[in-house]
Amino acid sequence: TKLDTSALADLPSDVTRPGYDRAALTPGILHIGIGNFHRAHQAVYLQRLFETGRDHDWALVGAGVRPGDTAMRDRLAAQDWLYTVVELDPEGLSAQVVGSMIDFCEVAPLKLVDRLSDPAIRIVSLTITEGGYFVDADTGGFDAKHPDMQADAATPDDPKSVFGILGLALRRRFEAGTPPFTVMSCDNLPGNGHAAQQATVGLARLHDGAFADRIGTQVAFPNGMVDCITPATSDRERAMVADKFGITDAAPVVCEPFRQWVLEDNFPQGRPALEEVGVEFVADVVPYELMKLRILNGGHAAIAYPSALLGLTYAHDAMADPDVAAWLDALERREIMPTLAPIPGVDYEAYLAKIQERFGNPEVGDTITRLCLDGWNRQPKFVLPTLEDALKADRPIQGLALEVALWARYCAGEDEAGNPIEIADDRAEVLHPAGQKARSDPQAFLALGEVFGPLARNSRFTEAFAMQLGRLWSDGVRATLQAYCKG
Ligand code: NAD
Repeated sequence: TKLDTSALADLPSDVTRPGYDRAALTPGILHIGIGNFHRAHQAVYLQRLFETGRDHDWALVGAGVRPGDTAMRDRLAAQDWLYTVVELDPEGLSAQVVGSMIDFCEVAPLKLVDRLSDPAIRIVSLTITEGGYFVDADTGGFDAKHPDMQADAATPDDPKSVFGILGLALRRRFEAGTPPFTVMSCDNLPGNGHAAQQATVGLARLHDGAFADRIGTQVAFPNGMVDCITPATSDRERAMVADKFGITDAAPVVCEPFRQWVLEDNFPQGRPALEEVGVEFVADVVPYELMKLRILNGGHAAIAYPSALLGLTYAHDAMADPDVAAWLDALERREIMPTLAPIPGVDYEAYLAKIQERFGNPEVGDTITRLCLDGWNRQPKFVLPTLEDALKADRPIQGLALEVALWARYCAGEDEAGNPIEIADDRAEVLHPAGQKARSDPQAFLALGEVFGPLARNSRFTEAFAMQLGRLWSDGVRATLQAYCKG
């Protein structure tokens, strides 16, 4: 059955479908970046809430600013914005059709600004990736020199970036006397709400200080921690949805059955009652974000690069490899978890055990290639802050230095069997020569200032990095991981 509204009644009985009246939903949230994660996570929480009969004035409107978003919009338009989410439980797969999105704004910045001027839109949420926030590696502040920011500052009435678009929309709302929307980041970065605020205010300040102050004082940017491993969709997933559930869906999503969402309750224009469907509201999200970014995302980074170098395909292959699994466990316990302050009611040991189980789920089929993506933006968010804290506290860093060295070794562009590795990163043209040069001159890699910032001048780190990278080249990945675990 080709998925659309008219097909809902005919779907196989084992497929769950919206049990509420979609035609009666009205928009409340505009989401920028309709990739897989948003559709598996926030949109599913909203569907659960709508099922309870509540808050039907908080439906989602999709939006995007990149060419790829037009393709997603076209696929979803042909399906009345419906799509399938398959949860990959090793005990058995389950499928639901999600209907919490009711429209998708045309992918054009000024159309998006118009849509954002609608008072019904009270929340703008974002998944625009870790690299989408214009954070300066050296200072952690706003990267005002970035060409995209300079361009939007020069033409604030014709913005191209997400933050330029949000700025112009906020200006329109202020002028019209409409209360500002709340900006809710759902990306994986430390203090994601703070980063969104810094970028929105920082860009506004480049052309209008008073306007920037007004955003800073009147717009809320709650921090949030989001979690649900959501791999990319390929032909394999589309075929599975057709074969197993009888649905022809051009844009299905698969994800693990685990979901977590911890949010700061800072929504002056109101919010859906997400606490009814499992979202945790806490006063301070930062410790939860650090737990997740360091243990889970830092853990993904730890297994990604050695696995690529060893020629492994999936995350569950990595967890089935005794050397990689032991390395992850040792690194987490010795160096990552000790950097985290305790959270009342949260057991880090249990959290790690759950993550090891989740990484090992063979149904998820998360690829090592996906985990290797975008190291340029991910290492500074997932790995380097842990390293900085460990250095400050004078704690061990050999494993964290090895984690960075594995990335550098991967960037040399060849696995241990001599097969070429295609470096999946927007900055591959810089990373590849740096990774090659680092074989004889480790400092050449740390000289990537936008990534390493002041860490490149910390001798404890540079020495440990050089030692671990040297060992990777001379003894190989396995022996180096084993040496660390023994040590
Ligand atoms: P995806 O590739 O399916 O979608 C990425 C989306 O981000 C697309 O809509 C793309 O157009 C947009 N985008 C990318 N760079 C942008 C930029 N600079 N400005 C504006 N838009 C931009 O990826 P995904 O799986 O949906 O993941 C997106 C983000 O969600 C991740 O980067 C992460 O921060 C967060 N997240 C993902 C997962 C996961 O398991 N996939 C888990 C937790 C959090």
